[in-house]
Amino acid sequence: MTSSHSDTAQGAARDLITQLVHHPYTPPAGFVSPQPPVHKGSSVLFPNVAAMRERRWLDKSSYTYGLHGTPTTYQLEERLCALEGGLQCLLVPSGLSALTTVSLALLNAGDQVLLPDNAYGPNKDFTEIELKRLGIDHALYDPMNLADLQAKITPATKLVWLEAPGSVSMEFPDLIAMVQLCRARGVTTVLDNTWGAGLAFRPFDLLADGGSLGADITAHALTKYPSGGGDVLMGSIITRDAGLHMRIKLTHMRLGIGIGANDAELLLRSLPSVGLRYRAHDVAARALAQWLGQQPAVVQVLHPALEGAPGHAHWQALCGAANEGQGAAAGLFSVVIDPQHSQTAVDRFCDSLQLFKLGYSWGGPISLVVPYEIERMRSQPHTQLKAGTVVRFAIGLEQVQDLRADLAQALTKAFG
Ligand SMILES: *Cc1c(COP(=O)(O)O)cnc(C)c1O
Repeated sequence: MTSSHSDTAQGAARDLITQLVHHPYTPPAGFVSPQPPVHKGSSVLFPNVAAMRERRWLDKSSYTYGLHGTPTTYQLEERLCALEGGLQCLLVPSGLSALTTVSLALLNAGDQVLLPDNAYGPNKDFTEIELKRLGIDHALYDPMNLADLQAKITPATKLVWLEAPGSVSMEFPDLIAMVQLCRARGVTTVLDNTWGAGLAFRPFDLLADGGSLGADITAHALTKYPSGGGDVLMGSIITRDAGLHMRIKLTHMRLGIGIGANDAELLLRSLPSVGLRYRAHDVAARALAQWLGQQPAVVQVLHPALEGAPGHAHWQALCGAANEGQGAAAGLFSVVIDPQHSQTAVDRFCDSLQLFKLGYSWGGPISLVVPYEIERMRSQPHTQLKAGTVVRFAIGLEQVQDLRADLAQALTKAFG
């Protein structure tokens, strides 16, 4: 008698509810469909005690516990490595947790971490409050001044955060020179790669000639373009160095960080279209940014792909060759409104928009707008930005002419 026959025979004698838990039927193997299956499980079952003792949670050739990975999360990790050009990936439940996990894993009391002054705001808050509480020091550097970064690296500096372009004010730094500088000083670099998303430039291969230069780590808010729906929060931490990956992975595991299988499924579903979506957001954003630049209420357009924007030459050098020389950029830009218009008028402009909704985050189908008081977000006075209120736009997937008409009617309502 085969074991499955005996299971069935025994099974028939068991209580109905027990049969529902331990049912003998196994579906045939060999179902193949376009989407990877969604594997769920906190408990992972072992065939015997020896296997249970032998398996190591760090070993990705098998499974030990849902928190440490499933076939679904392993597949997502590999695809994200392909997207960004890395070799190892950790998944976390938000973009912000990607940033905080990297800093927590790599910094000790007495160390110093450097952040660009235009860093993603919550990363600054985490550094200034939580890391400080742990005795970890920090300094903010001017991302558009290499000498300032150089001057702020001390023997205590263990990690440098990079962002290209900076959040909200969108200055594009000389990323290549910054990575070169940090590498020469032996300091680990981590790039917040949410804007580039692996599509605008290769974060681990920054040199056009294929020479080996890249950020040591990328942290990516998958919430934005990889998700594309405005409906998932997730982040990734990608490396090319197994030792560095392991240092972060151990902290990641001890903190108990994991993601849900359904969220992984949504990401796996969205990833194949990320290139098409990114390009569509880019084309529409550039058209609208250019048009806004011609409107009298706008004194400056902050879009790194546009001539005259802060850091445009750095963007051109890093991202300019893509798309047959048109370059690659995300669907994100800001404008500075003429300071003769009051904050109230700027608020009225944002409130008057109908297709553009008021909301944080970006990367989904709906266009979003947020007014910012940039002075309150920066430690140093801005040299590259003109005076006035900053309004940030995240362009969705609506048709450009409809978005342009919406902007035009709101400009007239607010500024005459
Ligand atoms: C949105 C964003 C994050 C954080 O992502 P969440 O998933 O919202 O936590 C981090 N960095 C940048 C640059 C972002 O735009």
